[in-house]
Amino acid sequence: MHDYSVAELAQGLREGRFSSVEVTRAHLQRIAALDERFNSFISVDESAALAEAEQADARRAAGEASALTGVPIAHKDIFCTRGLRTSCGSKMLDNFVPPYDATVVSRLREAGAVTLGKTNMDEFAMGSSNETSYYGAVRNPWDTDAVPGGSSGGSAAAVAARLAPAATGTDTGGSIRQPAACCGITGIKPTYGRVSRLGMVAFASSLDQGGPMARSAEDCALLLNAMAGHDPLDSTSSTRDTQDYTAQLERDLSGLRIGLPTQYFGEGLSAATAACVQDALRELQARGATLVDVSLPHSELTVPTYYIIAPAEASTNLSRYDGVRYGHRCEDPQDLLDLYTRTREEGFGDEVKRRILVGTYALSAGYYDAYYKKAQQVRRLIRQDFLDCFEQVDIIAGPTTPGPAFALGAKSDDPVSMYLEDVYTLAVNLAGLPAMSVPAGLVEGMPVGLQLIGQHFDEARLLNVAHQFQQATDWHLRAPGGID
Ligand code: GLN
Repeated sequence: MHDYSVAELAQGLREGRFSSVEVTRAHLQRIAALDERFNSFISVDESAALAEAEQADARRAAGEASALTGVPIAHKDIFCTRGLRTSCGSKMLDNFVPPYDATVVSRLREAGAVTLGKTNMDEFAMGSSNETSYYGAVRNPWDTDAVPGGSSGGSAAAVAARLAPAATGTDTGGSIRQPAACCGITGIKPTYGRVSRLGMVAFASSLDQGGPMARSAEDCALLLNAMAGHDPLDSTSSTRDTQDYTAQLERDLSGLRIGLPTQYFGEGLSAATAACVQDALRELQARGATLVDVSLPHSELTVPTYYIIAPAEASTNLSRYDGVRYGHRCEDPQDLLDLYTRTREEGFGDEVKRRILVGTYALSAGYYDAYYKKAQQVRRLIRQDFLDCFEQVDIIAGPTTPGPAFALGAKSDDPVSMYLEDVYTLAVNLAGLPAMSVPAGLVEGMPVGLQLIGQHFDEARLLNVAHQFQQATDWHLRAPGGID
Protein backbone atom coordinates (compact mmCIF):
# COMPACT_ATOMS: atom_id res chain seq x y z
CA MET A 1 0.00 0.00 0.00
CA HIS A 2 2.95 2.31 0.66
CA ASP A 3 3.83 2.33 -3.02
CA TYR A 4 0.55 3.95 -4.02
CA SER A 5 0.59 7.55 -5.12
CA VAL A 6 -1.83 10.12 -3.72
CA ALA A 7 -3.97 9.70 -6.88
CA GLU A 8 -4.01 5.91 -6.47
CA LEU A 9 -4.84 6.13 -2.78
CA ALA A 10 -7.65 8.58 -3.53
CA GLN A 11 -9.03 6.21 -6.14
CA GLY A 12 -8.78 3.14 -3.89
CA LEU A 13 -10.54 4.99 -1.08
CA ARG A 14 -13.24 6.16 -3.46
CA GLU A 15 -13.80 2.64 -4.73
CA GLY A 16 -13.85 1.27 -1.20
CA ARG A 17 -10.87 -1.06 -1.83
CA PHE A 18 -9.40 0.00 1.50
CA SER A 19 -10.23 2.39 4.30
CA SER A 20 -8.34 5.43 5.51
CA VAL A 21 -7.68 3.62 8.79
CA GLU A 22 -5.96 0.80 6.89
CA VAL A 23 -3.88 3.17 4.76
CA THR A 24 -2.94 5.33 7.73
CA ARG A 25 -2.01 2.33 9.86
CA ALA A 26 0.17 0.94 7.06
CA HIS A 27 2.12 4.19 6.86
CA LEU A 28 2.42 4.53 10.64
CA GLN A 29 3.81 1.00 10.78
CA ARG A 30 6.40 1.84 8.15
CA ILE A 31 7.43 4.97 10.02
CA ALA A 32 7.83 2.93 13.22
CA ALA A 33 9.80 0.21 11.43
CA LEU A 34 12.04 2.23 9.12
CA ASP A 35 12.44 5.81 10.26
CA GLU A 36 15.21 4.99 12.70
CA ARG A 37 17.38 4.79 9.57
CA PHE A 38 16.38 8.17 8.12
CA ASN A 39 15.28 10.33 11.07
CA SER A 40 12.78 12.02 8.79
CA PHE A 41 10.11 12.61 11.46
CA ILE A 42 10.37 14.75 14.59
CA SER A 43 6.89 14.00 15.97
CA VAL A 44 4.35 11.30 15.16
CA ASP A 45 1.01 11.13 16.99
CA GLU A 46 -0.34 7.70 16.09
CA SER A 47 -3.59 7.90 17.97
CA ALA A 48 -4.45 11.35 16.62
CA ALA A 49 -3.68 10.15 13.08
CA LEU A 50 -5.89 7.08 13.47
CA ALA A 51 -8.69 9.17 14.94
CA GLU A 52 -8.51 11.50 11.92
CA ALA A 53 -8.54 8.48 9.63
CA GLU A 54 -11.70 7.19 11.34
CA GLN A 55 -13.33 10.56 10.84
CA ALA A 56 -12.34 10.51 7.17
CA ASP A 57 -13.89 7.08 6.74
CA ALA A 58 -17.06 8.30 8.44
CA ARG A 59 -17.15 11.34 6.18
CA ARG A 60 -16.83 9.14 3.13
CA ALA A 61 -19.59 6.82 4.38
CA ALA A 62 -21.80 9.90 4.74
CA GLY A 63 -21.09 10.86 1.13
CA GLU A 64 -19.09 13.97 2.04
CA ALA A 65 -15.66 13.03 0.73
CA SER A 66 -13.45 15.13 -1.54
CA ALA A 67 -10.34 14.08 -3.50
CA LEU A 68 -7.97 13.93 -0.54
CA THR A 69 -10.34 12.57 2.10
CA GLY A 70 -8.57 9.82 4.01
CA VAL A 71 -5.16 10.25 2.34
CA PRO A 72 -2.39 10.41 4.95
CA ILE A 73 0.28 13.09 4.57
CA ALA A 74 3.12 14.57 6.62
CA HIS A 75 3.75 18.22 7.48
CA LYS A 76 7.10 19.93 7.67
CA ASP A 77 7.61 20.89 11.31
CA ILE A 78 7.47 24.56 10.36
CA PHE A 79 3.66 24.50 10.02
CA CYS A 80 1.74 25.05 13.24
CA THR A 81 -0.42 22.07 14.17
CA ARG A 82 -2.93 22.53 16.93
CA GLY A 83 -2.07 20.35 19.90
CA LEU A 84 1.02 18.84 18.22
CA ARG A 85 4.51 20.19 18.87
CA THR A 86 5.88 22.49 16.17
CA SER A 87 9.61 22.79 16.74
CA CYS A 88 10.86 24.28 13.46
CA GLY A 89 13.89 22.03 14.00
CA SER A 90 15.04 24.22 16.91
CA LYS A 91 15.66 23.81 20.61
CA MET A 92 14.01 27.23 20.88
CA LEU A 93 10.62 25.71 20.01
CA ASP A 94 11.19 22.21 21.37
CA ASN A 95 8.38 22.75 23.90
CA PHE A 96 6.05 24.74 21.64
CA VAL A 97 2.58 23.25 21.15
CA PRO A 98 0.56 25.64 18.98
CA PRO A 99 -3.00 26.54 19.94
CA TYR A 100 -4.01 26.76 16.25
CA ASP A 101 -3.41 25.21 12.82
CA ALA A 102 -1.52 26.95 10.02
CA THR A 103 -3.88 27.76 7.14
CA VAL A 104 -2.11 25.15 4.99
CA VAL A 105 -2.76 22.55 7.67
CA SER A 106 -6.38 23.54 8.23
CA ARG A 107 -7.12 23.54 4.50
CA LEU A 108 -5.67 20.08 4.06
CA ARG A 109 -7.57 18.89 7.13
CA GLU A 110 -10.81 20.33 5.73
CA ALA A 111 -10.12 18.41 2.53
CA GLY A 112 -9.92 15.31 4.73
CA ALA A 113 -6.17 14.62 4.57
CA VAL A 114 -4.87 12.79 7.65
CA THR A 115 -1.78 14.12 9.47
CA LEU A 116 0.78 11.34 10.03
CA GLY A 117 3.26 13.59 11.82
CA LYS A 118 5.79 16.39 11.55
CA THR A 119 8.94 16.10 9.50
CA ASN A 120 12.50 17.01 10.34
CA MET A 121 14.11 20.12 8.86
CA ASP A 122 17.07 22.44 9.12
CA GLU A 123 16.73 24.72 12.12
CA PHE A 124 14.31 27.54 11.21
CA ALA A 125 14.62 26.30 7.58
CA MET A 126 18.17 27.61 7.32
CA GLY A 127 20.26 25.14 5.40
CA SER A 128 20.55 22.87 2.39
CA SER A 129 21.41 19.60 4.06
CA ASN A 130 19.18 19.09 7.09
CA GLU A 131 22.27 18.91 9.25
CA THR A 132 21.39 21.99 11.31
CA SER A 133 18.33 20.38 12.94
CA TYR A 134 18.28 20.23 16.75
CA TYR A 135 16.86 16.72 16.28
CA GLY A 136 19.84 15.44 14.31
CA ALA A 137 20.57 15.08 10.63
CA VAL A 138 18.18 13.38 8.21
CA ARG A 139 19.67 10.66 6.02
CA ASN A 140 19.01 10.27 2.33
CA PRO A 141 17.04 7.06 1.62
CA TRP A 142 19.10 6.54 -1.56
CA ASP A 143 22.32 6.46 0.45
CA THR A 144 22.21 6.92 4.21
CA ASP A 145 25.70 8.46 4.20
CA ALA A 146 24.41 11.31 2.04
CA VAL A 147 22.32 14.34 2.99
CA PRO A 148 18.69 14.50 1.80
CA GLY A 149 19.04 18.20 0.95
CA GLY A 150 17.31 20.89 2.96
CA SER A 151 15.66 22.52 4.54
CA SER A 152 12.59 20.32 3.81
CA GLY A 153 14.82 17.24 3.95
CA GLY A 154 12.60 15.29 6.34
CA SER A 155 9.60 15.72 4.03
CA ALA A 156 11.67 14.70 0.99
CA ALA A 157 13.18 11.66 2.71
CA ALA A 158 9.82 10.52 4.10
CA VAL A 159 8.20 10.67 0.66
CA ALA A 160 11.17 9.00 -1.07
CA ALA A 161 11.25 6.18 1.51
CA ARG A 162 7.49 5.65 1.09
CA LEU A 163 6.78 6.58 4.71
CA ALA A 164 4.24 9.12 3.46
CA PRO A 165 2.74 9.51 -0.02
CA ALA A 166 3.15 13.29 0.16
CA ALA A 167 4.26 16.04 2.50
CA THR A 168 4.23 19.79 2.83
CA GLY A 169 7.42 21.81 2.54
CA THR A 170 8.52 25.42 2.45
CA ASP A 171 10.90 27.15 0.08
CA THR A 172 12.67 30.41 0.92
CA GLY A 173 15.59 29.88 -1.44
CA GLY A 174 15.21 26.32 -2.69
CA SER A 175 14.06 24.26 0.28
CA ILE A 176 11.32 22.41 -1.57
CA ARG A 177 13.13 21.98 -4.89
CA GLN A 178 16.65 21.10 -3.72
CA PRO A 179 15.65 18.27 -1.32
CA ALA A 180 13.11 17.04 -3.88
CA ALA A 181 15.97 16.80 -6.40
CA CYS A 182 18.31 15.10 -3.91
CA CYS A 183 15.70 12.49 -2.92
CA GLY A 184 14.23 11.79 -6.37
CA ILE A 185 10.78 13.24 -5.74
CA THR A 186 8.66 16.05 -7.20
CA GLY A 187 8.07 19.38 -5.47
CA ILE A 188 6.59 22.73 -6.38
CA LYS A 189 7.22 26.14 -4.87
CA PRO A 190 4.19 28.22 -5.82
CA THR A 191 4.20 31.91 -6.71
CA TYR A 192 4.84 34.12 -3.68
CA GLY A 193 1.42 34.81 -2.16
CA ARG A 194 -0.35 31.81 -3.71
CA VAL A 195 -0.28 29.76 -0.50
CA SER A 196 -0.99 31.33 2.88
CA ARG A 197 1.92 31.87 5.27
CA LEU A 198 -0.32 32.11 8.33
CA GLY A 199 0.98 29.71 10.95
CA MET A 200 4.11 28.93 8.97
CA VAL A 201 7.03 29.88 11.23
CA ALA A 202 8.61 32.90 9.54
CA PHE A 203 12.19 32.83 8.22
CA ALA A 204 12.39 35.51 5.49
CA SER A 205 8.88 36.83 5.01
CA SER A 206 9.28 38.26 1.50
CA LEU A 207 10.65 34.94 0.21
CA ASP A 208 8.94 32.15 2.21
CA GLN A 209 6.36 30.07 0.43
CA GLY A 210 4.79 26.71 1.28
CA GLY A 211 4.09 24.00 -1.24
CA PRO A 212 3.56 20.28 -1.79
CA MET A 213 6.18 17.53 -2.15
CA ALA A 214 5.08 14.20 -3.58
CA ARG A 215 6.19 11.56 -6.01
CA SER A 216 4.56 13.00 -9.12
CA ALA A 217 3.34 16.27 -10.59
CA GLU A 218 -0.20 14.90 -10.55
CA ASP A 219 0.02 14.33 -6.79
CA CYS A 220 1.46 17.82 -6.26
CA ALA A 221 -1.48 19.23 -8.24
CA LEU A 222 -3.97 17.39 -6.04
CA LEU A 223 -2.38 18.82 -2.90
CA LEU A 224 -1.98 22.31 -4.32
CA ASN A 225 -5.69 22.37 -5.13
CA ALA A 226 -6.35 22.17 -1.40
CA MET A 227 -3.49 24.44 -0.26
CA ALA A 228 -3.72 27.41 -2.61
CA GLY A 229 -5.96 30.43 -2.30
CA HIS A 230 -6.48 33.75 -0.62
CA ASP A 231 -6.31 33.88 3.16
CA PRO A 232 -7.77 37.02 4.73
CA LEU A 233 -5.46 36.39 7.71
CA ASP A 234 -2.29 36.73 5.59
CA SER A 235 -2.05 40.22 4.09
CA THR A 236 0.57 39.02 1.58
CA SER A 237 -1.62 36.26 0.21
CA SER A 238 -2.96 36.91 -3.27
CA THR A 239 -6.63 37.62 -3.93
CA ARG A 240 -6.32 36.29 -7.46
CA ASP A 241 -8.50 33.25 -8.27
CA THR A 242 -6.78 29.89 -8.08
CA GLN A 243 -6.67 27.51 -11.01
CA ASP A 244 -7.75 23.88 -10.97
CA TYR A 245 -4.22 22.51 -10.95
CA THR A 246 -5.23 19.09 -12.28
CA ALA A 247 -7.30 20.43 -15.18
CA GLN A 248 -4.41 21.12 -17.55
CA LEU A 249 -2.24 18.11 -16.80
CA GLU A 250 -3.07 16.35 -20.06
CA ARG A 251 -2.55 19.36 -22.32
CA ASP A 252 -0.02 18.53 -25.02
CA LEU A 253 3.22 20.42 -25.28
CA SER A 254 3.19 21.44 -28.92
CA GLY A 255 4.08 25.08 -29.26
CA LEU A 256 5.58 25.29 -25.77
CA ARG A 257 8.70 27.48 -25.73
CA ILE A 258 11.26 26.56 -23.09
CA GLY A 259 14.01 29.05 -22.24
CA LEU A 260 17.44 27.73 -21.28
CA PRO A 261 19.44 30.36 -19.39
CA THR A 262 23.08 30.15 -20.50
CA GLN A 263 24.11 31.00 -16.93
CA TYR A 264 22.50 27.76 -15.65
CA PHE A 265 24.59 25.49 -17.86
CA GLY A 266 28.07 26.86 -17.28
CA GLU A 267 30.84 26.42 -14.76
CA GLY A 268 29.83 24.77 -11.49
CA LEU A 269 27.32 22.33 -12.98
CA SER A 270 28.52 18.73 -12.83
CA ALA A 271 28.85 17.15 -16.29
CA ALA A 272 26.77 14.12 -15.33
CA THR A 273 23.95 16.30 -13.99
CA ALA A 274 24.07 18.44 -17.13
CA ALA A 275 23.73 15.26 -19.24
CA CYS A 276 20.57 14.22 -17.32
CA VAL A 277 19.08 17.68 -17.79
CA GLN A 278 19.90 17.61 -21.52
CA ASP A 279 18.22 14.20 -21.87
CA ALA A 280 15.14 15.54 -20.10
CA LEU A 281 15.04 18.55 -22.41
CA ARG A 282 15.24 16.27 -25.45
CA GLU A 283 12.27 14.38 -24.08
CA LEU A 284 10.28 17.60 -23.83
CA GLN A 285 11.36 18.51 -27.35
CA ALA A 286 10.12 15.14 -28.59
CA ARG A 287 6.76 16.04 -27.07
CA GLY A 288 6.53 19.23 -29.11
CA ALA A 289 8.42 21.87 -27.13
CA THR A 290 10.97 24.23 -28.67
CA LEU A 291 14.16 25.10 -26.84
CA VAL A 292 15.33 28.72 -26.87
CA ASP A 293 18.57 30.09 -25.43
CA VAL A 294 17.92 32.94 -23.01
CA SER A 295 20.01 34.97 -20.61
CA LEU A 296 19.61 35.97 -16.98
CA PRO A 297 22.43 38.53 -16.87
CA HIS A 298 22.27 39.19 -13.13
CA SER A 299 22.53 35.52 -12.15
CA GLU A 300 25.91 35.85 -10.49
CA LEU A 301 24.43 38.38 -8.05
CA THR A 302 21.71 36.09 -6.73
CA VAL A 303 23.73 34.33 -4.00
CA PRO A 304 25.08 37.57 -2.44
CA THR A 305 21.70 39.30 -2.80
CA TYR A 306 19.82 36.44 -1.16
CA TYR A 307 22.39 36.20 1.65
CA ILE A 308 21.74 39.83 2.57
CA ILE A 309 17.95 39.85 2.26
CA ALA A 310 17.20 36.46 3.85
CA PRO A 311 19.38 37.00 6.95
CA ALA A 312 18.11 40.58 7.32
CA GLU A 313 14.51 39.42 7.41
CA ALA A 314 15.44 36.45 9.59
CA SER A 315 17.15 38.70 12.13
CA THR A 316 13.95 40.69 12.63
CA ASN A 317 11.63 37.66 12.53
CA LEU A 318 13.70 35.78 15.07
CA SER A 319 13.81 38.69 17.50
CA ARG A 320 10.47 37.39 18.83
CA TYR A 321 12.23 34.46 20.53
CA ASP A 322 13.08 36.20 23.77
CA GLY A 323 12.05 33.65 26.39
CA VAL A 324 9.06 35.73 27.49
CA ARG A 325 5.90 34.40 25.90
CA TYR A 326 6.66 30.96 24.51
CA GLY A 327 9.51 28.66 23.55
CA HIS A 328 12.74 28.05 25.39
CA ARG A 329 13.57 30.12 28.50
CA CYS A 330 16.90 29.97 30.33
CA GLU A 331 16.96 28.93 34.02
CA ASP A 332 17.00 31.60 36.74
CA PRO A 333 17.58 34.76 34.72
CA GLN A 334 19.29 37.49 36.77
CA ASP A 335 17.57 40.33 34.92
CA LEU A 336 15.87 41.05 31.60
CA LEU A 337 19.08 41.28 29.58
CA ASP A 338 20.29 38.00 31.04
CA LEU A 339 16.95 36.42 30.14
CA TYR A 340 17.27 37.54 26.52
CA THR A 341 20.90 36.70 26.00
CA ARG A 342 21.04 33.31 27.70
CA THR A 343 17.72 32.20 26.21
CA ARG A 344 18.96 33.01 22.72
CA GLU A 345 22.46 31.68 23.36
CA GLU A 346 20.98 28.35 24.49
CA GLY A 347 18.01 28.13 22.15
CA PHE A 348 19.60 28.84 18.75
CA GLY A 349 22.17 26.76 16.88
CA ASP A 350 25.26 28.06 15.07
CA GLU A 351 23.79 28.58 11.59
CA VAL A 352 20.84 30.52 13.00
CA LYS A 353 23.18 32.72 15.04
CA ARG A 354 25.32 33.32 11.95
CA ARG A 355 22.26 34.52 10.02
CA ILE A 356 21.11 36.77 12.89
CA LEU A 357 24.56 38.37 13.06
CA VAL A 358 24.79 38.92 9.29
CA GLY A 359 21.23 40.25 9.12
CA THR A 360 21.59 42.58 12.08
CA TYR A 361 24.79 43.97 10.60
CA ALA A 362 23.20 44.50 7.17
CA LEU A 363 20.30 46.40 8.74
CA SER A 364 22.29 48.51 11.15
CA ALA A 365 22.48 52.29 10.80
CA GLY A 366 25.27 53.20 8.43
CA TYR A 367 25.23 49.84 6.63
CA TYR A 368 21.57 49.69 5.65
CA ASP A 369 22.06 51.65 2.41
CA ALA A 370 25.20 49.79 1.44
CA TYR A 371 23.78 46.34 2.01
CA TYR A 372 20.05 45.94 2.48
CA LYS A 373 18.91 48.75 0.21
CA LYS A 374 21.44 47.79 -2.45
CA ALA A 375 20.34 44.16 -2.26
CA GLN A 376 16.71 45.19 -2.76
CA GLN A 377 17.71 47.19 -5.84
CA VAL A 378 19.60 44.23 -7.28
CA ARG A 379 16.63 42.00 -6.47
CA ARG A 380 14.56 44.18 -8.76
CA LEU A 381 17.05 43.64 -11.60
CA ILE A 382 17.02 39.88 -11.03
CA ARG A 383 13.24 39.85 -11.25
CA GLN A 384 13.33 41.95 -14.42
CA ASP A 385 15.72 39.45 -16.06
CA PHE A 386 13.02 36.77 -15.71
CA LEU A 387 10.24 39.05 -16.92
CA ASP A 388 12.35 39.86 -20.00
CA CYS A 389 12.86 36.15 -20.71
CA PHE A 390 9.14 35.50 -20.40
CA GLU A 391 8.60 37.90 -23.31
CA GLN A 392 10.17 35.16 -25.45
CA VAL A 393 9.37 31.88 -23.71
CA ASP A 394 6.59 30.21 -21.70
CA ILE A 395 8.74 28.51 -19.10
CA ILE A 396 12.42 28.35 -18.17
CA ALA A 397 14.28 25.09 -17.53
CA GLY A 398 17.61 24.05 -16.08
CA PRO A 399 19.15 21.97 -13.32
CA THR A 400 17.79 22.18 -9.76
CA THR A 401 21.19 21.71 -8.14
CA PRO A 402 24.82 21.66 -9.32
CA GLY A 403 25.08 17.92 -8.59
CA PRO A 404 23.52 15.04 -6.65
CA ALA A 405 23.32 14.89 -2.84
CA PHE A 406 26.67 15.22 -1.09
CA ALA A 407 28.03 13.19 1.83
CA LEU A 408 26.92 14.03 5.36
CA GLY A 409 29.44 16.41 6.89
CA ALA A 410 31.04 17.30 3.54
CA LYS A 411 30.00 20.96 3.61
CA SER A 412 29.03 21.59 7.21
CA ASP A 413 32.21 23.52 8.03
CA ASP A 414 32.09 25.59 4.86
CA PRO A 415 29.01 27.82 4.82
CA VAL A 416 29.81 29.38 1.45
CA SER A 417 30.02 26.04 -0.36
CA MET A 418 26.72 25.11 1.33
CA TYR A 419 25.18 28.38 0.12
CA LEU A 420 26.25 27.59 -3.47
CA GLU A 421 24.08 24.49 -3.39
CA ASP A 422 21.15 26.84 -4.09
CA VAL A 423 22.77 28.78 -6.91
CA TYR A 424 20.00 27.78 -9.39
CA THR A 425 17.06 28.07 -7.01
CA LEU A 426 17.50 31.34 -5.08
CA ALA A 427 16.66 33.75 -7.91
CA VAL A 428 13.17 32.29 -8.23
CA ASN A 429 12.33 33.34 -4.66
CA LEU A 430 13.85 36.79 -5.15
CA ALA A 431 11.57 37.18 -8.20
CA GLY A 432 8.52 35.61 -6.49
CA LEU A 433 8.05 33.07 -9.31
CA PRO A 434 6.67 29.52 -9.17
CA ALA A 435 9.12 26.68 -9.86
CA MET A 436 9.38 22.95 -9.45
CA SER A 437 11.84 20.12 -9.41
CA VAL A 438 11.16 16.88 -11.24
CA PRO A 439 13.28 13.69 -11.04
CA ALA A 440 15.38 13.61 -14.22
CA GLY A 441 17.90 10.81 -13.83
CA LEU A 442 20.47 9.15 -11.64
CA VAL A 443 24.12 10.09 -11.26
CA GLU A 444 26.10 7.23 -9.71
CA GLY A 445 22.87 5.91 -8.28
CA MET A 446 21.77 9.25 -6.80
CA PRO A 447 18.82 11.27 -8.13
CA VAL A 448 19.11 14.67 -9.79
CA GLY A 449 16.34 17.10 -10.69
CA LEU A 450 15.16 19.12 -13.65
CA GLN A 451 14.03 22.57 -12.55
CA LEU A 452 11.08 24.21 -14.33
CA ILE A 453 10.40 27.90 -13.66
CA GLY A 454 7.06 29.47 -14.59
CA GLN A 455 5.50 32.88 -14.91
CA HIS A 456 3.77 34.40 -11.91
CA PHE A 457 0.63 32.40 -11.03
CA ASP A 458 1.19 29.93 -13.88
CA GLU A 459 1.47 26.84 -11.64
CA ALA A 460 -0.98 24.92 -13.83
CA ARG A 461 1.35 25.19 -16.83
CA LEU A 462 4.36 24.04 -14.84
CA LEU A 463 2.48 21.05 -13.48
CA ASN A 464 1.29 20.28 -17.02
CA VAL A 465 4.85 20.23 -18.38
CA ALA A 466 6.08 18.13 -15.47
CA HIS A 467 3.19 15.69 -15.86
CA GLN A 468 3.81 15.30 -19.58
CA PHE A 469 7.48 14.63 -18.82
CA GLN A 470 6.44 12.00 -16.27
CA GLN A 471 4.16 10.34 -18.84
CA ALA A 472 7.24 9.82 -21.01
CA THR A 473 9.76 8.85 -18.32
CA ASP A 474 9.83 6.73 -15.18
CA TRP A 475 12.43 8.53 -13.06
CA HIS A 476 9.71 9.61 -10.63
CA LEU A 477 8.68 5.98 -10.12
CA ARG A 478 12.16 4.81 -9.12
CA ALA A 479 12.48 4.02 -5.44
CA PRO A 480 15.61 3.79 -3.33
CA GLY A 481 16.77 0.22 -2.64
CA GLY A 482 16.32 -1.59 0.68
CA ILE A 483 13.06 -0.02 1.80
CA ASP A 484 10.56 -2.81 1.02
N1 GLN B 1 19.39 26.88 1.67
C1 GLN B 1 18.82 28.19 1.69
C2 GLN B 1 19.11 28.84 3.03
O1 GLN B 1 19.73 28.22 3.83
C3 GLN B 1 17.34 28.13 1.44
C4 GLN B 1 16.58 27.63 2.60
C5 GLN B 1 15.12 27.62 2.36
O2 GLN B 1 14.64 27.67 1.23
N2 GLN B 1 14.37 27.57 3.45
O3 GLN B 1 18.74 29.96 3.27
